Amino acid sequence: MTEVTMDKIVSLAKRRGFIYPGSEIYGGLSGTWDYGPLGVELKNNIKNLWWRIFVQDRDDMLGLDAAIVMNPDAWRASGHVAGFADPLENGKMFNTMFTTSVGTGVDAITVYLRPETAGGIFVNFKNVVDSFHPKLPFGIAQIGKAFRNEIAPRDFVFRSREFEQLEIEYFVRPTEWEKAFGEWQKNQIIFAETIGLALSHIKQVEVSPEDRAHYSKQSVDTEFVYPFGQKELWGLAYRTDYDLAAHAEASGVDLSYLDEITGERFIPHVVEPSFGIDRTVLALLVSAYAEDALGGEARTYLKFNSAVAPVKAAVFPLLKNKPELVAKAREVYGMLKKDIPQIMWDDNGNIGKRYRRQDEIGTPYCITIDFDTLGDPSTGSGQGSSLKDTITIRNRDTGEQERVSINSLASRIA
Ligand code: ATP
Repeated sequence: MTEVTMDKIVSLAKRRGFIYPGSEIYGGLSGTWDYGPLGVELKNNIKNLWWRIFVQDRDDMLGLDAAIVMNPDAWRASGHVAGFADPLENGKMFNTMFTTSVGTGVDAITVYLRPETAGGIFVNFKNVVDSFHPKLPFGIAQIGKAFRNEIAPRDFVFRSREFEQLEIEYFVRPTEWEKAFGEWQKNQIIFAETIGLALSHIKQVEVSPEDRAHYSKQSVDTEFVYPFGQKELWGLAYRTDYDLAAHAEASGVDLSYLDEITGERFIPHVVEPSFGIDRTVLALLVSAYAEDALGGEARTYLKFNSAVAPVKAAVFPLLKNKPELVAKAREVYGMLKKDIPQIMWDDNGNIGKRYRRQDEIGTPYCITIDFDTLGDPSTGSGQGSSLKDTITIRNRDTGEQERVSINSLASRIA
């Protein structure tokens, strides 16, 4: 059993270009993190899967990308100006919304950086309904940055001040919220499994009334056992008609929905599954982190599944000083990259070092082009042309190597 510590995760994430401390050369900025070349690929893979599964593959979902800065009246109406606050030690409440200003001089107004993406969905409810006339139940999904001036940012990206949410407001008839709530609770587990989170580390926990957000009548947190304890990964809340009713009242705009079947007009209720990408990335690093010994040598590897792995396969020429090997390897690399963009070229150091490096970033396959690939009987294994246009493909988890034809590679990796 590998002992997974935060030190190991944070150091691997930095060393291998997943996550760096924000503004590091200036001594950092508390609660901010920068995603490096592999971190952004990993994050995009998760976001794209999420969008595919929850938006594009369904007939009851519509997407949205609203502005981060909104008219501050929206945050007054939603209760965030009055109530989005955490207790300080002295017992006073501290509103965690960041403020900035829009405009110049006397016309400048104070605005907020959104503390959740949901706000943009509620204020566009009428726009989306008017454009698409969706039938209830239906959802509006959005992925984007959210900001909270957390009193005590900590535990790496778990609690940061700038983070990213993948949120769905799923609108239902008032009598149908429990069914939707149960479905989204299940969907969260299915998504966890799809991206490769360790299900043994996941627990769904009912949130007690005093711990619920001000807008929620029922909440279930999907929690994860991080190295620092079992804490929230994702949220699920029954927000009733709280938001739409409040925005209708404050804006004076009718946000009711006309049920064409029954002729009834009412404000839909909403169930909100909210996924934080940063906690997801952290949980995924913890789930994937493994140490073992391969061929008598200790190694660290990330056992990402292919769907989320930032690099799907790496291509090596056996030796980098043999132009004919490099040329053939470049050809294979170019061919694979056309269909599968997340392919890496690596010719640094010896093969053993390259394997270790790819293992540490979770690349499922390493492909080596050697003299046998060239089909030259005077070099390689001496089997000559029978191995022409074959390569070795190495499996990350077992270290086993197989000889397969170049033609079959793309379908294998895909
Ligand atoms: P916590 O209780 O841990 O502060 P929360 O209940 O305030 O979290 P929600 O308001 O439910 O969080 O936000 C939805 C999701 O957004 C969370 O499940 C989490 O994944 C993510 N999230 C919230 N706050 C942060 C943060 N400071 N840093 C990173 N992700 C966050």
